[in-house]
Amino acid sequence: MKKVAIIGAGLSGLTASYFLEDYAEVFIFEKSNGLGGRMSTRRYDRYSFDHGAQYFTAKTKQFLDFIKPLIDTGAVKRWDTKCVNIVNYNVVEEQNWNSQEPHFVGVPGMNQLGKHFATGRNIFMKKKVVSIEVDSKGAVRDEDGKIYNGFDLIIFAVPGPQALSLLLPSFNYYDEIKKIEMNPCFSLLLGFDKELAIDFGAAKILDSDVSWLAVNSKKPGRSDPFSLVLQSSVNFARKNINEDHNKIMAHLMEETTRIIKCDVSSASVKKIHRWVYASNQKKENKSFFLDRKLKLAVCGDWCNNGKVEGAFCSAYDLIAELKK
Ligand SMILES: Cc1cc2nc3c(=O)[nH]c(=O)nc-3n(C[C@H](O)[C@H](O)[C@H](O)COP(=O)(O)OP(=O)(O)OC[C@H]3O[C@@H](n4cnc5c(N)ncnc54)[C@H](O)[C@@H]3O)c2cc1C
Repeated sequence: MKKVAIIGAGLSGLTASYFLEDYAEVFIFEKSNGLGGRMSTRRYDRYSFDHGAQYFTAKTKQFLDFIKPLIDTGAVKRWDTKCVNIVNYNVVEEQNWNSQEPHFVGVPGMNQLGKHFATGRNIFMKKKVVSIEVDSKGAVRDEDGKIYNGFDLIIFAVPGPQALSLLLPSFNYYDEIKKIEMNPCFSLLLGFDKELAIDFGAAKILDSDVSWLAVNSKKPGRSDPFSLVLQSSVNFARKNINEDHNKIMAHLMEETTRIIKCDVSSASVKKIHRWVYASNQKKENKSFFLDRKLKLAVCGDWCNNGKVEGAFCSAYDLIAELKK
């Protein structure tokens, strides 16, 4: 049986591992102590926050089939909420997601998908890969200097710029990946003792440094006290990427207070999270990059529209190609 290393336990890495099950012995290396990458869930005190992906669509049959077992068990549910568009601090449009294509969420948190698809896999948590080597077999080295070798293939399932920092310049698609730009984002997480009077579940704010608001605690299957997740606009994050987090938080909270017309300074939990590589909207020419000669492959959402379903499709397409 072949031996494959996957760098990254986000959805693309876990998808690749799932579809390699009968084909290879797979070892996943994940630098953080949580599963799901940008689909993870943070806990602070009594509150949990989906601080990355907010919901996902499933337009392709392959992805729907993949998540069907989770829908059947209630680990994925439709989020049928009212979503509003806000301009100049006023609601200009309302949409009811129950009459639209499903907006799915993991239950009780977005990290449920990661937890589900990680079950039974060989995963090395808190193992940041810092370099690779390719010879007749591939090897990866973690930040403690430990080397894991004997791989027939190494798959990078990480954001493009992070893959680039480890890839060999002789990789066939190195220059293509070098051109990838990803957008940063700040997530603001607020937990309250009492509910705020907000009559929608989600909002897109079209002209503010805050671009998204979700009443996290009102997503299906959440039993925590009232909580909000806000996201900054890309422009704001770009301009303030190295700014002091307290300043970022103060600004985004003031802006949130104006948007929802409720003072959010009473929040008992206030956290800010910086995503350096949050998203990219562009579809690359390929949904993955495979160099059979070097025995290296790269996949991830950024190859494929920068969304959860794109992460799945990228890994799915890569493994289908490998098995040809
Ligand atoms: C704030 C935010 C909001 C979003 N909202 C939505 C949304 O509403 N809907 C939607 O569809 N998508 C959304 N997305 C995008 C979605 O989260 C991603 O498309 C998807 O989760 C990407 O999965 P991935 O496996 O490709 O990458 P990731 O989830 O980034 O997984 C990569 C993994 O690799 C690990 N890693 C990186 N480098 C190394 C290394 N050297 N060694 C070991 N491990 C490493 C990382 O820790 C991470 O776990 C959002 C993203 C963000 C940040």
